[in-house]
Amino acid sequence: MAERDIIDTDVVIVGAGPAGLAAAIRLKQKSPETAVVVVEKAAEIGGHILSGAVMDPVGLDELLPDWRQLGAPVGPKVTRDSFHVLTRKGDFRLPNFMLPPLMQTHGGVVTSLGDLVRWLGEQAQALGVDIYPMTAAVDVLVNQAGAVEGIVTGDLGVGRDGQPKSGYAAGIGLRAKYTLIGEGARGSLAKQLMQRYELTEGRSPQKYGLGIKEIWEIPDSLHEPGRVDHYLGWPLDDATQGGGFVYHANDRKVYVGLITHLDYRDPTLSPFDEFQRFKQHKSVARLLKGGTRLSYGARTVTSGGWQSIPELVFPGGALIGCAAGFMNAPRLKAIHSAFRSGIAAADSIAEALAAGRANDRLDALTARVMDGPVGRELYRVRNVKPLWSRFGTLLGVLLGGADMWVNQLFRFSPFGTLKHKKADADALWPVSATGERTYQRPDGKVSFDRASSVFLANIAHDEDQPVHLRLADPAVPVRDTLPAYGAEPAPNYCPAGVYEVVEQGGAPVFRISPANCVHCKTCDIKDPARNITWVPPEGGSGPSYSGM
Ligand SMILES: Cc1cc2nc3c(=O)[nH]c(=O)nc-3n(C[C@H](O)[C@H](O)[C@H](O)COP(=O)(O)OP(=O)(O)OC[C@H]3O[C@@H](n4cnc5c(N)ncnc54)[C@H](O)[C@@H]3O)c2cc1C
Ligand code: SF4
Repeated sequence: MAERDIIDTDVVIVGAGPAGLAAAIRLKQKSPETAVVVVEKAAEIGGHILSGAVMDPVGLDELLPDWRQLGAPVGPKVTRDSFHVLTRKGDFRLPNFMLPPLMQTHGGVVTSLGDLVRWLGEQAQALGVDIYPMTAAVDVLVNQAGAVEGIVTGDLGVGRDGQPKSGYAAGIGLRAKYTLIGEGARGSLAKQLMQRYELTEGRSPQKYGLGIKEIWEIPDSLHEPGRVDHYLGWPLDDATQGGGFVYHANDRKVYVGLITHLDYRDPTLSPFDEFQRFKQHKSVARLLKGGTRLSYGARTVTSGGWQSIPELVFPGGALIGCAAGFMNAPRLKAIHSAFRSGIAAADSIAEALAAGRANDRLDALTARVMDGPVGRELYRVRNVKPLWSRFGTLLGVLLGGADMWVNQLFRFSPFGTLKHKKADADALWPVSATGERTYQRPDGKVSFDRASSVFLANIAHDEDQPVHLRLADPAVPVRDTLPAYGAEPAPNYCPAGVYEVVEQGGAPVFRISPANCVHCKTCDIKDPARNITWVPPEGGSGPSYSGM
């Protein structure tokens, strides 16, 4: 490693999401003299945050009980919460009494998580937390005993050829007594640490979904602030899990999204195009037809749940929030658990620092999280995702619902604990077995193409920097994946049009346009050859979401 400036602090936190900011705020509440630094790769706090979101406020209640009086920017309380099963032409609403209580949220609020974390950032700064936006953590510092003792931030001003250009500034080391990784789903440092410290040993593989979301402004006559609708079924086929949502926020805004689980089989399936189809269903299109699309973005969620949670602690720090995978997939809720895990990590660190410890394992944290409300919530829904994967959406949802009811009433599951069989990268079949999928051209009113969508993600990305989508072997996509599957899946799964297979001189060529990347991490998860590694580009690169 080149000579770097090293700055000492007490605690360094990677990621200004709900998990990272909850940890920072809690640490300062408990011991104001503790020095806390948060690094965030987005140009502004919240710029890379994408969520639904209906938030269960229990996590925020625990962090800042008077958040309402303090003016936290949350939207309306949920006034009506409905589950629907869609067919191509039909929409069947499930009566609420059929829904297991584990699926319900009392006191839920429709929220822009991006706006909320921006506000939380201000609360943290007011308490004395140092937040560095535009700063990507690219590596960890490891001491001689093999414990993590901080992070390394990315260099600025490196050209595409890897050589320094004018304005070059080497990244710095932030050396700390404890390091928390709050990078969200499929964190790049979290992935490194899981390998280095074998944190996933004995766990089921993590499972993921790709969430694609738009914000629309719709006519007043159709807008019902606080109305929440979740959809299962069409347009996803029975072998592909996931579901759609439409949340009515304030100011005539609706949040429209579709999550496609990444263990789908068909290499020609495109989550982006499935989302366009979802919007064309009459139940959704009726809202959007007279409206205006304001923004677009995409981000993965974890869906493996309890069986896939890695060991949370490593020497010198811990994984928090969705970097560890606390998403309750059937309920599509994890913000409250991100808060709670950040709070628990802060409490464990405060105790350790008070005892004069540093750079050791925060062993008490695992029990605090997994035996507490976060682990208990995930444990009770642990079989739902494996049942969906084994039996398909229709039967799987019925069995999953029955399992949740039995859990609710008798506190046990007739299925024991089902494992996830394979990682999402291993789920693809060749096109010869699935058949090739084709999608209709967008209508430009409700459905759109990738280029016009990505434009609404407000991406800033200097092209003259090293490509942050690293291919272990650049020949693999055309030489191996294309013939093995009959299609290269990357152009289909990437929601931002980063990957293309084009003809050059009569031969296929795999082309990458990194400047389109919205940092969803799907390619790092779904590439069947595990040939693509997503690393953070220069700090400040990527989408600049507003209100996501
Ligand atoms: C489409 C969709 C819908 C959802 N709907 C809901 C919902 O309705 N209700 C609910 O409760 N939950 C929902 N979730 C889940 C919820 O958004 C997440 O659980 C939550 O955001 C996780 O918080 P986090 O702090 O762990 O990570 P994140 O919110 O992902 O924040 C991580 C932060 O770390 C930064 N970062 C990452 N890597 C680095 C690095 N190396 N260096 C510097 N910074 C870095 C990122 O830029 C980001 O700002 C949804 C998620 C999606 C994608
Ligand atoms: S390149 Fe990868 S991380 Fe970037 S938008 Fe496409 S799939 Fe997502």
